[in-house]
Amino acid sequence: MKTKYDLIVAGAGYAGFAAAVRAARNGMDVLLFDRDGCAGGTGSASMIVPYMNYWTIDPATQEKIYLNKGLFFELRQHLIEQGQLMANDRNFHDEYVKLIMDRMLIEAGVTVLYHSYLIGADTADGTVRSVTVANKTGNLTFEADWFLDATGDADLTVMCGFPTRLGRESDHLCQPMTTCFRMANVDTALFKEEKPQIQELYQAWQAEGRIKNPRENVLTFFMPVKGIVHFNTTRVVGKNPVDAFDLTAAEMEAREQIFEMIAFLKANFASFKDASLISIGSRIGVRESRMISGEYVLTEDDVKACRKFDDTIAVANYSIDIHSPDGSGTLIYKLPQGEYYTIPYRCLIPKGVKNMLVAGRCISADHVAQASVRIMPICCTMGEAAGTALTLARQSGAKDVREVDVPKLQKQLEAQGLKIH
Ligand SMILES: Cc1cc2nc3c(=O)[nH]c(=O)nc-3n(C[C@H](O)[C@H](O)[C@H](O)COP(=O)(O)OP(=O)(O)OC[C@H]3O[C@@H](n4cnc5c(N)ncnc54)[C@H](O)[C@@H]3O)c2cc1C
Repeated sequence: MKTKYDLIVAGAGYAGFAAAVRAARNGMDVLLFDRDGCAGGTGSASMIVPYMNYWTIDPATQEKIYLNKGLFFELRQHLIEQGQLMANDRNFHDEYVKLIMDRMLIEAGVTVLYHSYLIGADTADGTVRSVTVANKTGNLTFEADWFLDATGDADLTVMCGFPTRLGRESDHLCQPMTTCFRMANVDTALFKEEKPQIQELYQAWQAEGRIKNPRENVLTFFMPVKGIVHFNTTRVVGKNPVDAFDLTAAEMEAREQIFEMIAFLKANFASFKDASLISIGSRIGVRESRMISGEYVLTEDDVKACRKFDDTIAVANYSIDIHSPDGSGTLIYKLPQGEYYTIPYRCLIPKGVKNMLVAGRCISADHVAQASVRIMPICCTMGEAAGTALTLARQSGAKDVREVDVPKLQKQLEAQGLKIH
């Protein structure tokens, strides 16, 4: 068994997937591992649709300006070819993403190891030497020159002993967790008509204590499959996503809310008369947990001011979208049309480490900024940028991610189709 690679990527979510594919295409020998049996991370295991903003509209011309292209666009193109992206350019079929990501990983030559849980890391003088994963084979240790933490929860960063922060600064509460589920055989035309009554009755039942779910309304989406309604509407507050007992309790609480929602819909609405539960995310969805303490912390002010940084590696314009960490309500702060903010390379560099980057929802950002950067298209773009940066580090003989020639990185990212300026 081969035990040494150029790059090891921990976590095969949108960020880890993109980093691994990009680095392998750019010549790195890459190992990508994940505890799940597929790629896509939260997007796959927690069944997340649709894609939130990856474009903005030019207010003058009303033209769509795509912000997150590169590998994310390749993925999107594959979905289009499979007929699995709806005309609104957002709603897609997440099961196809698992199929497409596998193909892209294989074609790029990435060594993929699923069903492998990170259980340890060895670090000396700020240099990560190896990681150990537990799987059916046993405990396996792999070495590499470069590492990427794309675990969403910054697990590798913690195991290496580098600092992180949990949730919002004031009380360390995180955005609520949500288990998504789907109902099939819904009369979707009638559902659209009944939606206002559904919201009204839901709120009335909630006020009477007959609905325990603290979410303020019923949040649903359509998919490119007839008769299916996707529910992103359970809400578990006050639990710590990186505490295994809290996580277990959250899974069970969310599933109880699914019982509650199905009973409510079937008892009251004709559109659900013949509908049945068809699937539940295999892992509760975690919006926020640990964030690394990086060389720069992206802030609420940076996002709201649509700040542009010299060391930009990705651009983004999704709203600040905070599902209340302690109850009802969702705060949405929309960025102006035609505008975007940028994510600096320094947000991917954990303090104190030389040969590792972090990409995805656990980059160095404050609670409010994280609520914007966390979406799938942006995580994918950050992953691609990290994979590219680590390739450049290797090619230049660097020993520290801070030595990466950032203008050269930006040029390379632009050549790969990503927007920088
Ligand atoms: C309920 C909910 C709704 C959302 N809605 C939307 C939406 O509508 N649109 C949108 O664009 N985004 C949405 N998001 C956000 C988005 O889905 C995630 O933030 C994004 O997918 C995160 O990508 P990532 O690659 O950073 O991390 P993840 O997808 O979390 O990937 C991390 C990977 O690391 C693996 N991993 C973690 N720890 C270990 C370990 N110790 N050992 C081995 N493997 C490990 C995990 O299995 C996972 O595959 C939503 C999120 C949630 C939770």
